[in-house]
Amino acid sequence: MPEFLHPDKENYSFEELSQEETIRPQSFEDFAGQRKTLDNLQVFVAAARNRGGALDHVLLHGPPGLGKTTLAHIIANELGVNLKVSSGPVLDKPGSLAGLLTNLEENDVLFIDEIHRLSPIVEEYLYSAMEDYKIDILLETGPNARSVQIALNPFTLIGATTRSGMLTKPMLARFGIQNRLEYYTTELIATIIIRSARVLGITIYEDAALEIARRSRGTPRIANALLRRVRDFAEIKGNGEIEIKITKFALNSLNVDENGLDDMDNKIMRVMIENFKSRPVGISALATSLGENPETLEEVYEPFLIQEGFIIRTPRGREVTTKAYNHLKLTPPTNPGSLF
Ligand code: ADP
Repeated sequence: MPEFLHPDKENYSFEELSQEETIRPQSFEDFAGQRKTLDNLQVFVAAARNRGGALDHVLLHGPPGLGKTTLAHIIANELGVNLKVSSGPVLDKPGSLAGLLTNLEENDVLFIDEIHRLSPIVEEYLYSAMEDYKIDILLETGPNARSVQIALNPFTLIGATTRSGMLTKPMLARFGIQNRLEYYTTELIATIIIRSARVLGITIYEDAALEIARRSRGTPRIANALLRRVRDFAEIKGNGEIEIKITKFALNSLNVDENGLDDMDNKIMRVMIENFKSRPVGISALATSLGENPETLEEVYEPFLIQEGFIIRTPRGREVTTKAYNHLKLTPPTNPGSLF
């Protein structure tokens, strides 16, 4: 997959990421879709504001690129408080967490991305911070070791994770508000593309926006990345406006197929059909055959393939569907019952 089309932001260049900041929606009003999540969050934010207290801790989970970080920014904006940002792998020592927490002002938001990657020690520290707004700091080590308790300002922790299944029970229990973000429909992605184009000063026609949307895997981050690449084609090979002809040309040159599937998606289905003879397969066996890491398969690729009905998860493992055969222009086996 070309790096700029990867839903995971770790694969983006600095330039891509700073453009992402420019087009990131700043208010609930600008945030498209996820209606149920948004309606609830709006109520909780308004209630916290009225009370003048901190919003309860929020967990946002779902595949990469669907708007978890964006929502954290919006929540802080709508609460009228500061946002501090960190991530599980960066907060590797209790000291770094303590530093962040003690600098929070009243009702501020602390956003921790990839919260499932916090180390167990740091997680323990977070428990008392979340529950009683207190942390114990260890002073000195060895025989003179003693700890002091520091009171924190009330704050809201917003945790984001692609893998809520990897969070410990005590951690999960401390989030009073939990929401799962879903993939977006083509129409919603098209409205996101049209909005981003407006912010970036790009002229785009509706049919072109829909065409890009169809190939964006229901993911705003991919949609915005595709928009920028199609704009490059429009500027160099057209008159700078994004219309349908240049869009189709650009998308074909970028190797993004009509279902938004990329080389890796197709490879996954092909390996399941050819190497595993369409029999149920476990995620680690599949990952080994593809030379890919099982977590990436499970978090990035599989959810979309499942949602679109190309593969299904059964108690025996993952299985391909007839839709996958049709997509790859292969003939499904004739023995009934082996396919869905
Ligand atoms: P995540 O944290 O889930 O990986 P982000 O919040 O960083 O995803 O979203 C990626 C990009 O997609 C953001 O820059 C933002 O501009 C855009 N985006 C995400 N969700 C929406 C939305 N609902 N409406 C408009 N743009 C969105």
